[in-house]
Amino acid sequence: MKKLLQVMKFGGTSVGDAECIARVARIVADAAVRHSVVVVVSAMSGVTNRLIQAAVRCETGDQSESQTLAEQLRAQHESALRALISNEVKRAALAQTLEQVIAETARLCHGTALLRELTPRTLDAISSAGERLSAPLVAGALVELGLRSEAMNATELIVTDNHHGDAEPLMGPTRDRAEARLRPLLTDGMVPVVTGYIGATREGVLTTLGRGGSDYSATLLGAALGADETIIWTDVDGVMTADPRLVPETRTLPEISYHEAAELAYFGAKVLHPKTLRPVTQAGGTVWIRNSFAPEKSGTKIAPQSRPAPGGVKALTAIRDVTLITVGGPGIVGALDILARTFSTTARARANVLLISQSSSQNDICFVVPSSEAERAIAALRKTFAQELAHQQVEHINVDANVAIVAAVGEKMKGTPGIAGRTFSALGRENINVIAIAQGSSEYNISFVVEAGAMKRAVLVLHKEFGLDRRTPMEENGLAEAAGVEPWPK
Ligand code: ASP
Ligand code: MG
Repeated sequence: MKKLLQVMKFGGTSVGDAECIARVARIVADAAVRHSVVVVVSAMSGVTNRLIQAAVRCETGDQSESQTLAEQLRAQHESALRALISNEVKRAALAQTLEQVIAETARLCHGTALLRELTPRTLDAISSAGERLSAPLVAGALVELGLRSEAMNATELIVTDNHHGDAEPLMGPTRDRAEARLRPLLTDGMVPVVTGYIGATREGVLTTLGRGGSDYSATLLGAALGADETIIWTDVDGVMTADPRLVPETRTLPEISYHEAAELAYFGAKVLHPKTLRPVTQAGGTVWIRNSFAPEKSGTKIAPQSRPAPGGVKALTAIRDVTLITVGGPGIVGALDILARTFSTTARARANVLLISQSSSQNDICFVVPSSEAERAIAALRKTFAQELAHQQVEHINVDANVAIVAAVGEKMKGTPGIAGRTFSALGRENINVIAIAQGSSEYNISFVVEAGAMKRAVLVLHKEFGLDRRTPMEENGLAEAAGVEPWPK
C-alpha cells in the first residue's frame, strides 16, 4: 500500500528548547512508523526577532548587540544539543555545523557595522540563521530516536523571485527541486528536516518568505510533493472562533474550509501566515493545525469544503494595528483615475491594503493598511496627488490610526440573507459606531472598521449573536471520528 505523505511544520515555540524538540521528535517518530514525513522547522522562538534587531543595530555601526547575540545563540543551541544528543561524536559534528552558521552570521553583522549599510539581501542572510540552526538540531533529535534523518537547507528546494524579505516562490522550479532532492530521500525512508522561512533565487541567493513564513514553506513543499496532509504544529489547539484574549468563551473549530482559513489569516488570526493556503488551494490536500504540546487533541482540519456554521458566521477576527486613510474631495466625483492612482500608489509603496470602501456618492475613498506601512503610503499619496491637493480637487488625505478592523468569516454567508443585518443590528444595540464597511463579493467575510476602543466589545457581541460559544451538533456527536482524525498514541 502506498504510504501517506505528511509534511509537518513545527513553529518556534514547538522547538523552543530541548524538551520541546524532544516532544517534536516523538511526534515525528510516531508518524514516521506509518507515513512518509517531511519536517519543516521554524527558528527556536525569539531567535528571528533577535537576529533582526541585532542586524538593524549593526547598521548604526553598533556591534555590541550582535556580539552578545552570537554568544547567546551558541549557549542556547549548545545546551539543547547536550540535552538531546547522547553520542559524543555526533554531538561534536553537529556543534561544528551550528558554529559555522553562528560564525557566518557574526561576520555578516560585522560587515554590516563596517559599512553601516543593511541591504535587504544581507538582512535575509542574517535573519535566516535561526532556521539554519534549528533544523540540524531537530534532525539530530530524530536520529537519536532511531530514525534516519538529515537537515536540509530550503535554499536547495524553494525557488523564489529576488524580492528579499518577502520573496514570491516559483512553483514550477520548486516542484522540480522537491522531486529531485526530497523524493529520493522519502523513497529511501528518510525523514528530511527542512528549514522553514527560507528560499533562494534561481541563482542561489538566499531569500526569505516574510515573517512567520515557515507555514508557507510547509504548504509549498506539501503542494510541490503532492502531500496528502500538511500539519502545522503550533502552541494552540487550532483555529479558534475568536481571539481568546478578547473572548473568554472561544472554542477550537474542528474544521474550516480553505476559504475561511485564508480569510481569517488575512485578517490577522495569528495562527497561520496569510499566504499559507495559497499553494494547497491549487494542489489540494488537507491542512491541519495541531498543538505540539497537546498532540492528543485533534486540532482544526482545513479542507476544500467544510460543514457550515448554523448561524452562517464561523469565526471572528480583529486587527488593531491598522490605519484608516481617506482620500476625499469634490474632484473625486466622476474622476475615473483617482481610484487607479490611489491604489497604484499604495502598491508602489508596498502597503498592503486590507479593506476598501467607497461611497456611491464617490466623495471619498477610504481604505485600511497596516499601521507599520501607513506612513510610507501616505507620503506617497501626498506626492501623487500634490497637484490635486494644491487645487483642492482632492481636499484631504486623512489619517486615523485609532481604528481596528473586525471581520466575521464563514463560507455559508454566501447566499444567506440577513447576516449583515444581524451583524450591524447587534453592533447598533451595543452602541458601537461603524466607521466603514466592506464585504467582498466572494461573501466569505463581512468586515468593518470601528474605533480601536470598541474592537473588543464588537467581537464579544458578535460572538454571542452568532452562537459561536456553543458547540455544533456535529461536535456533540463525537467530532474526532467525524473528521477522520487518527487517534494519537498517548
Ligand atoms: N522564524 C521566522 C519568523 O519568526 C519564520 C517563522 O517562524 O515562521 O518570522
Ligand atoms: Mg514564528
